[in-house]
Amino acid sequence: LDEFDLIARYFSPLAGRSGLGLLDDAACITPPTGKDMVVSKDMLVAGIHFFPDDKPASLAFKALSVNISDLAAKGARPHSYLLGLSLPEDMDQIWIEQFADGLAEAQKYYNIELIGGDTTSTLGPITISVTAIGYVEQGGMVRRNGACIDDRIYVTGTLGDAALALLGIRGECKLYEDLLECYHRPVVNSVFGQGLCGRASASADVSDGLIADIHHICKASGVGAVVNASALPVSANAARIIKRDSKLAPLIWSGGDDYKIVFTASAENGCHLKRFAKQTGVKVTEIGKIVAGAGVDLVDFSGQQVQIGTEGFMHFSKGRRQS
Ligand code: ADP
Ligand code: MG
Repeated sequence: LDEFDLIARYFSPLAGRSGLGLLDDAACITPPTGKDMVVSKDMLVAGIHFFPDDKPASLAFKALSVNISDLAAKGARPHSYLLGLSLPEDMDQIWIEQFADGLAEAQKYYNIELIGGDTTSTLGPITISVTAIGYVEQGGMVRRNGACIDDRIYVTGTLGDAALALLGIRGECKLYEDLLECYHRPVVNSVFGQGLCGRASASADVSDGLIADIHHICKASGVGAVVNASALPVSANAARIIKRDSKLAPLIWSGGDDYKIVFTASAENGCHLKRFAKQTGVKVTEIGKIVAGAGVDLVDFSGQQVQIGTEGFMHFSKGRRQS
């Protein structure tokens, strides 16, 4: 099965109208009038982001979810995606077939279609690179840089589930099935994300750890933040793990792989968004406030500073020079 057979057999059936059946050199998109295109890429590398023996269908779903997560945080409606795949020469065809099945499922769920990509062999690990394209009203993308003093800080869903699952896989804490699902197959609510436009003052997807991602918002907006540790939303099983071993609590605010949205809004817009969240089946929790200054303070219920612990996940941090 060569590259072209592989594309024709497994990927062409997933192609949308703009993808021209994956039979041309490039896709061709007619942009809707009055919209801005929002574009984002996220890569998944075996051994870094997933285990080489992870189920291919879940992996495909995750590859789309992590990209939709970026679009959702920007308020964009998903439109289409490009898929870059680097696969070892001796790649199992069943793997590719199941991977394509997972893509088909995610495409249906997110209402997004494949429009192109590239397929290469590699001497290295499996690498999956997705570029997702979405639309917002012109000028409507929710940036990181709009947070204002006195805005409230909100987060969707629960935090730390995937990070605790990863620890469970490594045998360092109890492994719960629902947390494992959050790690293997995160699901993003992109309809809620689209409601952020015109209401949220700033927004980011939580993928590197909550505090690190709030930091990004603060830095871009030239403000500081106070976050209440006791307000952070935690699932029942994550709470059980932390109750047993309180040393793991920092994973709630600094573990990676959440794929949730942290956003800021005035109290009034926050109320609207909480109502919209209910309609779209999303849990939204107020977790803190934007203040003058810089940096993020994590405080407990008595206002005492909490040690943040590990900073969010960072690639290349081993190679950084110690100062
Ligand atoms: P090039 O030779 O420029 O690399 P190809 O001829 O390999 O391009 O690609 C043929 C078509 O197949 C293009 O439309 C391309 O977008 C599509 N394609 C290649 N790999 C993938 C993939 N992994 N997923 C989706 N489309 C793909
Ligand atoms: Mg190509």
